[in-house]
Amino acid sequence: HSPVDPLVAPEEQAAEAALRPSRLDEFEGQPRVRDQLSLVLAAARHRDSTPDHVLLSGPPGLGKTTLAMIIAAEVGAPLHITSGPAIQHPGDLAAILSGLVEGEVLFLDEIHRMSRPAEEMLYLAMEDFRVDVIVGKGPGATAIPISIPPFTLVGATTRAGLLPSPLRDRFGFTAQLDFYEVEDLTGIVTRSAAKLDVELDADSARLIASRSRGTPRIANRLLRRVRDYAQVNADGRVDVALAKAALELYEVDELGLDRLDRAVLEAICAKFAGGPVGLSTLAISVGEETETVEEVAEPFLVRQGFLMRTPRGRVATPAAWAHLGLSAPPGAPG
Ligand code: ADP
Repeated sequence: HSPVDPLVAPEEQAAEAALRPSRLDEFEGQPRVRDQLSLVLAAARHRDSTPDHVLLSGPPGLGKTTLAMIIAAEVGAPLHITSGPAIQHPGDLAAILSGLVEGEVLFLDEIHRMSRPAEEMLYLAMEDFRVDVIVGKGPGATAIPISIPPFTLVGATTRAGLLPSPLRDRFGFTAQLDFYEVEDLTGIVTRSAAKLDVELDADSARLIASRSRGTPRIANRLLRRVRDYAQVNADGRVDVALAKAALELYEVDELGLDRLDRAVLEAICAKFAGGPVGLSTLAISVGEETETVEEVAEPFLVRQGFLMRTPRGRVATPAAWAHLGLSAPPGAPG
């Protein structure tokens, strides 16, 4: 993942790098995105030009960074990785852009968290391959245009809706990554097990996949934890019983909910009578950043039918009460 991602620990990033597919045909799942992207790349090759700017959106861990790396590899261009929070001043962006070589792929993670003036500089760069560097202040300030070599911007965001439309409109290709099917995740776990030299049967691969919250990053992470468990408690070989025991130790339940997911549901049910409860109140009550609750836990809980986002706040569904083994009080919402 990008070196600046606060959600992923550095040692985890190294482990991930080893498991990253480097070509489009090794990228499992997301067939539509793969086909569309493959066409974008082929068309660019055909025109002998840089591919259009690409916007990738979707929850963390679904392959946005991986796709940026694949795009660079497929066009044979270098890749520069940065992120919105790292670019606060337009000058930071100007320095990056003017340092690009022709055809370079610029991966801008968390693009929605860039400052507004930097964003405006980016518009011009995307469209005209030019930046205007402002020199001086007040009425005497002048804009010095600097041309930059053609490049491909790959922007990533957890929520495309957070991007202002002038920015969104400047991407030639936009893809929404969705949670993965268990089959695809089983493929990812199997491939990763081979790379990690872990002996794992098909049922265990499927079990790990089915508890991965539809997310390749989590599938790979759980596989590594299961491997650790097998090395310490058995001869290293993984079967279903062992995988189950390991996942239980790491507090991953049968549906793949982890501790944060359950804490969120428990808070809504036990502390707020099923909701509605506002996001920031909910985040405080589970001791997390609102962003983490909103962008990491909620998309999966919504998709699993455990949580609803309503204008008045978050509401637990009957399925959530049932999953927690609680009975919803009469009159509970949902
Ligand atoms: P994001 O940038 O969306 O947060 P990443 O691209 O960093 O996610 O992916 C996280 C991990 O999951 C990486 O180790 C990557 O190898 C793996 N991964 C993601 N998508 C796929 C995929 N489609 N096929 C195989 N591995 C994948």
